[in-house]
Amino acid sequence: MYVNVVTRSGLEPLLPTPHLIGLFFGCALILGILTTLRIGGADMPVVIAIYNAFTGLAVGLEGFVLQIPALMIAGMVVGASGLLLKLLMAKAMNRSVRNVLFTNFGAVSQRKDRDVSGSLKPVEAGDAGIFMRYASSLIIVPGYGLAFAQGQQKLYEFVKLLQANSVVVKFAIHPVAGRMPGQMDVPLAEAGVPYDLIFQLEDINDEFANTDAVLVIGANDVVNPAARTAKSSPIFGMPILNADKAKKVYVIKRGDGKGYAGIENELFYADNCNMVYGDAQAVLVKMIEAVRGLGSAAAA
Ligand code: NAP
Repeated sequence: MYVNVVTRSGLEPLLPTPHLIGLFFGCALILGILTTLRIGGADMPVVIAIYNAFTGLAVGLEGFVLQIPALMIAGMVVGASGLLLKLLMAKAMNRSVRNVLFTNFGAVSQRKDRDVSGSLKPVEAGDAGIFMRYASSLIIVPGYGLAFAQGQQKLYEFVKLLQANSVVVKFAIHPVAGRMPGQMDVPLAEAGVPYDLIFQLEDINDEFANTDAVLVIGANDVVNPAARTAKSSPIFGMPILNADKAKKVYVIKRGDGKGYAGIENELFYADNCNMVYGDAQAVLVKMIEAVRGLGSAAAA
């Protein structure tokens, strides 16, 4: 098959259709790479949602061309949901879509981490667990690492132990924690955590300052204070959970790995913060054992 063009001498074949399709895909690939190459890591969810919306749009248009109503409806549903998701995520990151797509262009190479002062202060999992057992209030910030470690069941087991010892426990969910929108709500629901313990960013952010302890599990960017002040940071402007404002912060992570945005987190170096190194699930098991080891009320 050939694609025809009209010339002075009549209709002439220009390119064989498979070649044209290959050329089209090549151009689309280059366009895709060029438009996403310079976009900062933390902005990528918004871009993915935009491309999702475009996919729906393309399917919908195909439905119009082929006169297939099912394709039109499915395309419009996907396109509209992608569009809504994009707007919600851009709002969650306090950025306009235009800003996400165009502001970073040509600027990424100039971005670098701020110098971070202080030191990382590791503690044993058991000691961290016992501190939380004697706190009166605790806010838990789950992130991508918790989902990756599949530690949600152990986390809820630990929470029930604390509640049996009169600790008031709440969960704080950041809208872009994890790798998919709403991802962190899913493992918590799967583990059976009651909905009334789970709070979204805007509903809980003021409570951090009056909380005895915060447990950050496998989260990084969503509690990085650089988002408030470091104009050169790729996450600047993104609302964050105010974990740094609590009296005491424990962070569970495997090592000194950075978050999705690839930047250092000054919270980890703060005076009120201790690191509990290890896989999230393994650390939670040790924390449960330590609290159970304290005695009868803790073992409830
Ligand atoms: P994050 O910034 O990616 O940090 C995750 C942390 O978990 C890492 O620092 C890692 O440190 C630790 N970790 C990984 N595996 C672990 C394990 N098995 N046990 C314990 N810790 C583990 O995650 P986040 O704070 O949830 O932030 C989400 C980020 O992803 C944001 O930048 C967001 O913009 C982006 N994003 C979100 C979506 C969305 O729609 N939600 C989509 C795409 C991207 P170690 O390696 O040292 O353990």
